[in-house]
Amino acid sequence: MTTTFLKAKKILDGRGGAKDHAGIVVSGGRIREILPSAPDGAETIDYGDATILPGLINAHAHIDTPPVLKTVEWITGVGKAEHVIETVRNLEQTLASGVTYVRNMGSRDMVDLEVKAAVEKGLVQGPGIVTCGRMLCMTGGHGNFIGLESDGVDECRKHTRQLLKAGVGHVKFMASGGILTPGSVAGREEFTFEEVAAIVDEAHKAGRKTAVHASGTPNVLKALKAGTDSVEHGYDIDDACRELMVKQGTYLVPTLAPAWFFVQYGREAGIPAYIFEDRGESSLELQRESFRKAVEAGVRIATGSDAGTPFNGHGSLAVEIRLMVEAGMRPSDAIVASTWGGADLLGIGKDLGSIEAGKAADLLVVDGDPLENISVLEKPLGVWKDGKKIF
Ligand SMILES: [Zn+2]
Repeated sequence: MTTTFLKAKKILDGRGGAKDHAGIVVSGGRIREILPSAPDGAETIDYGDATILPGLINAHAHIDTPPVLKTVEWITGVGKAEHVIETVRNLEQTLASGVTYVRNMGSRDMVDLEVKAAVEKGLVQGPGIVTCGRMLCMTGGHGNFIGLESDGVDECRKHTRQLLKAGVGHVKFMASGGILTPGSVAGREEFTFEEVAAIVDEAHKAGRKTAVHASGTPNVLKALKAGTDSVEHGYDIDDACRELMVKQGTYLVPTLAPAWFFVQYGREAGIPAYIFEDRGESSLELQRESFRKAVEAGVRIATGSDAGTPFNGHGSLAVEIRLMVEAGMRPSDAIVASTWGGADLLGIGKDLGSIEAGKAADLLVVDGDPLENISVLEKPLGVWKDGKKIF
């Protein structure tokens, strides 16, 4: 068995710890130990002034959608073969950007389950995937063009059970509306408390976590009361919501990138006025403010970019991390949210999310020190997945 020693000026362990001038001993796909110099017989790769950190984890992505403006038209119109090819391509881009694990937040035809199986068989190269299959929404609710429309407690239970039977990793549901879905309004109530409680109950009975798409205090609160494990987006909420999240250990996945990309590309790119008003500069500011308050309150954060929304490509997690830092999070905390935080939320923390002896060797190498300049994460020097060099 070959042993490799990956050396760099700095190693960030993903849990807030750092080591200078050290290296990681990798063999059999695993991290064996961290040493100041190479052990006998090891092949050394010296990354010089670079930093090595755990592979990043994107806790909120849409792997089967390209970052096109007309998301709904694309996903409902594309043929089966192109849909799968697009998904595979997106996964390749994800891995090349240093993201070694991703949680897919809803896909058409449960394509994420099939593609995950193909990645695990080694048919295609990609990050590890936690699937949600099709998300749950009310009839006509947000995401209904690919989601499982469910109304009333019994249907919510039945459809959750169907997802669990199909083998989803997590269960995602929509507690409030969102943009991009015609007829749905961001922040407006969709599922009722009873429906949400039935979904969470069924998922938890099966040992699966839940993720809720929600913004606005009443919507986030009902999902928190039902015991959801993560809140996606989660802006426009009050202190009581934040306190409950801290108390229950609920993760917030803030997803600042979609609004930022909208603002960057603007109306000139063809974004309809109603979306721009909903997701433009004022919305971005509201989300930044809400995120800052959550960080200050001590809410657990896992990073998610919402990749696959308009202009928001599958290599964009580092942009999301930069936006989190710009909004007031300390760089070291933003890195923890993007490594250990993601792994903990995804339920893979035993094996991933930090540089520790015994864990899988999923690693990212960047040029320089991200604690001094977070944007170095946007140009990876090297990526390793299960001890295998991707580039
Ligand atoms: Zn999303």
